[in-house]
Parts: sequence; structure tokens; C-alpha cells
Amino acid sequence: SKNNARLELKSISDNIGLARVTVASFAAQLDFTISEIEEIKVAVSEAVSNAIIHGYKDETGIIGINLEIDGDKLIIEVEDSGRGISNIEQACEPSYTTADRMGLGLVFIDSFMDELSIDSELEQGTKIRMIT
Ligand code: ATP
Ligand code: MG
Repeated sequence: SKNNARLELKSISDNIGLARVTVASFAAQLDFTISEIEEIKVAVSEAVSNAIIHGYKDETGIIGINLEIDGDKLIIEVEDSGRGISNIEQACEPSYTTADRMGLGLVFIDSFMDELSIDSELEQGTKIRMIT
């Protein structure tokens, strides 16, 4: 790949902004429009928020973000070692939430990114991979 980077964050909400600007700055190597950069920032915020709120629900852990430029594509992975998702298909449905929230984060990510894939195992953690 042309470039890659890895960021590790403590799972506290103060770090969502850091994740957003870091990914946006990395993405600036490619020819994204301002509105595409905005969509990337929203997708990263939603993924990192999910890791904090759901993955590390009753604990604090480390969130890993892997960034890669592959040709004219940006690959973003957000991973946590938290509780995991029991039913990934259900989790992706609009308004499905286990936390009395909107249940739209994964819907936004899926609509903003060209590709979304989720790997998760209960009590092991979750990795979401986005390509745009
Ligand atoms: P919103 O994103 O609108 O605030 P939400 O976070 O509940 O609400 P989604 O982001 O779409 O909605 O996630 C749907 C559900 O998938 C969550 O309620 C949670 O049960 C599960 N989930 C998502 N990400 C994770 C994660 N990293 N670890 C564990 N569970 C997750
Ligand atoms: Mg969410």
C-alpha cells in the first residue's frame, strides 16, 4: 500500500475528536471532496462511539484504528477488545439498538462508505472495516 498508519486510543469520549481529525488528515492524501471528508469523519465518530459505548460498556479499553491507502481507496479499521456483537445482521438494521439510542450509527457508516464489513466475537471484541 502507498501509506499506512495506526492509532491507539483510550476508550473515552474526549478521544472521538482526535480520531476524527487524524483520519481526516490521513484522508487528505487522496482527492476526496469536502463533503466526502465530512462523511468519513461521521463514519469514524460512529465507529469509535460504538466501541466506547457498547464495546467497552462497563470498562475502559483500547481502541485501535488502522488506516491504509490502497490505490485511490482509503481503508479504515476500528477495533475494540470489548463485549462483541451477538447478531451482526440485526445490529445493522435501522433503529436496532441495545442502549436506548437511535440505532443509526451502522446505517450511516454503511451509507457513507463504499464497503463495510464487521467481524465480532462475544467477549472478544469487534473490528469494523470501511472502504471509501
Ligand atoms: P446510535 O449509533 O444511533 O447512537 P446505536 O449505537 O445503538 O445508536 P448502531 O451504531 O447502529 O446504533 O449500533 C447498533 C447496535 O450494535 C448497538 O446498539 C450495539 O448493540 C451493537 N454494537 C455496535 N457496535 C458495537 C461494538 N463495537 N461492540 C459491541 N456492540 C456494538
Ligand atoms: Mg452507534
